[in-house]
Amino acid sequence: MKALDELTFDNRFARLGDAFSTHVLPEPLDEPRLVVASKAAMALLDLDPAVAETPVFAELFGGHKLWAEAEPRAMVYSGHQFGGYTPQLGDGRGLLLGEVYNDAGEHWDLHLKGAGMTPYSRMGDGRAVLRSSIREFLASEALHALGIPSSRALCVIGSSTPVWREKQERGAMVLRLAHSHIRFGHFEYFYYTKKPEQQAELAEHVLNLHYPECREQPEPYLAMFREIVERNAEMIAKWQAYGFCHGVMNTDNMSILGITFDFGPFAFLDDFDAHFICNHSDHEGRYSFSNQVPIGQWNLSALAQALTPFISVDALKEALGLYLPLYQAHYLDLMRRRLGLTTAEEDDQTLVESLLKLMQNSGVDYTLFFRRLGDESAALAVTRLRDDFVDLAGFDTWAERYKARVARDGDFTQEQRRERMHAVNPLYILRNYLAQNAIAAAESGDYSEVRRLHEVLTRPFEEQAGMEQYAQRPPDWGKHLEISCSS
Ligand code: AMP
Ligand code: MG
Repeated sequence: MKALDELTFDNRFARLGDAFSTHVLPEPLDEPRLVVASKAAMALLDLDPAVAETPVFAELFGGHKLWAEAEPRAMVYSGHQFGGYTPQLGDGRGLLLGEVYNDAGEHWDLHLKGAGMTPYSRMGDGRAVLRSSIREFLASEALHALGIPSSRALCVIGSSTPVWREKQERGAMVLRLAHSHIRFGHFEYFYYTKKPEQQAELAEHVLNLHYPECREQPEPYLAMFREIVERNAEMIAKWQAYGFCHGVMNTDNMSILGITFDFGPFAFLDDFDAHFICNHSDHEGRYSFSNQVPIGQWNLSALAQALTPFISVDALKEALGLYLPLYQAHYLDLMRRRLGLTTAEEDDQTLVESLLKLMQNSGVDYTLFFRRLGDESAALAVTRLRDDFVDLAGFDTWAERYKARVARDGDFTQEQRRERMHAVNPLYILRNYLAQNAIAAAESGDYSEVRRLHEVLTRPFEEQAGMEQYAQRPPDWGKHLEISCSS
């Protein structure tokens, strides 16, 4: 276990130099205080969890202090936002403080979001508010606990600094961890600004640090792109299987590592709704829940375009062709497991699709349905769940089909079935209204609810005593919350 001053830095991205990022110091928040910290994320840096409670922790992650070995940098990138190309974006309010490596030799970027203005702030104030920082913190740690690849969050630091959004709020910072903060938009930036040397340097950097095994392949860059396609297909399959809606799948928010990245107006589905749009400025539903699948491919095509200096168009197209079949295979595999199935049959796809259609028409709670399905034998569970559906005849047809399918799947005790299904069907997810309750308390200075919710979400598959209130459908007020994008 390490103390805060024992971290070891190796700032490899900073060493790429000024064409890639700019030196900027964090702008401190007034009266910094710990809102919440993740013990699991602290363990990634070998940090003793007790240090989160020390004043120096809030000072470091509230922008007041810095390690001598840290090299804070604002990265430059660009990206396609809602389908249109924006030639220059970049870290407008976040800083890469440095790269730390742990005792296991893993490297972690420390990124402080809400750290003040940078040369890339455009019209923004460089700040993040408490509300959005708590949301990013909870989402990163909750996704990770569900087995969905994501950036991590070490802590949220609150403050008394006023920040203006639709109303006056308070500034906060979230310390994000990821093996890399390089986005699709980094490659787009050097491609569209016609800087082939830097573009090649960036590609070498990513290959060496993050895809070293691709070096062994005859075409290392192509192998790397293929790997990125595969990781994205798998990540998005997990989003769809667990009902996660990202909300702002711009290419500047897509990680080169295939992890969920840059949380804004995201949401987990309460009632199943394929057309759900969590971002209320997304008027056309470009990033609606079901559109995430084709948008994943669209984004990969944008990256492919930026990689044309290194890889032939035919090879890129072939690699892009892997996306949909891989997505479908991962998705179907997960959905089979959510249904308790251990074998694969040709018709499983339609078994899933017809269930989702019924859930859609009846507004059935997506998370609780699967959890309850595993509580009992298939026959008993469908009898109990039947009341949630409006189209009873439709549900009965599906239920007969499901029972027959379960019978063909194998002979398992109910104990085995429950254990297997509960291990993939969470009881607790980060529902918007739960986040909202925790945020309201935190805004009035009480951080206990954020901490409790975070604790519950770190073990989403395990029933936790006294936590029934986190496993309920939302109350009416919590069903259609509009989450502000001005974060
Ligand atoms: P996002 O929608 O959060 O992914 O941000 C898109 C771009 O806007 C990125 O370049 C951000 O750094 C920048 N940005 C967002 N909010 C702010 C802010 N409050 N101040 C400065 N830049 C911001
Ligand atoms: Mg972003």
